[in-house]
Amino acid sequence: MAPIIDPKFCCSCGGPMGRAVPRDDHRERHVCTKCGFVHYLDPKVACGTIAERDGKMVLIQRAIEPRKGSWSFPCGFMEIDETTEQAAARETLEETGLEVRLGPLLGAYSYADSFWGGAILVVVYRAEVTGGVLKPDTDVCDARWIGPSEIPWEKLAFQSSTSAMRDWLRAGGHAVPPGVS
Ligand SMILES: [Zn+2]
Repeated sequence: MAPIIDPKFCCSCGGPMGRAVPRDDHRERHVCTKCGFVHYLDPKVACGTIAERDGKMVLIQRAIEPRKGSWSFPCGFMEIDETTEQAAARETLEETGLEVRLGPLLGAYSYADSFWGGAILVVVYRAEVTGGVLKPDTDVCDARWIGPSEIPWEKLAFQSSTSAMRDWLRAGGHAVPPGVS
């Protein structure tokens, strides 16, 4: 799938964009035909948490596309001025109302081709819930606590949802159901 973002005009000078291999580069880029500005298309980074309390984790139901109505862990795109840790904690608070203290990295899951049209990197931390009250919030229509045996594998939103929850089970010493990869 070709990237959706195909810049037509230079974001530096407003001139028309063309395609060229910049000097010392190795692949074709979007290059301004007027000022030479190179517009690099970058992967997107999404950050989230498996937020835990008493052996359960928080599952959210998506209220927006893509995959509206399906389930995942709280997660969203990293902003330009934050770390992956900050993004993960912020998204968790925004989507669930819960404050968390981040634990270790659970996993980093990357896909060369994703719903937005380009590569995505999903960074997931384990996290301990330290405050707040669970309630569905921004971009979310339901939120609930689930135990290791209650994961709705057939209703998960993304491959990263499945992979992260699989790794969460393994990290806790729980068996992973057959067919989950
Ligand atoms: Zn330009």
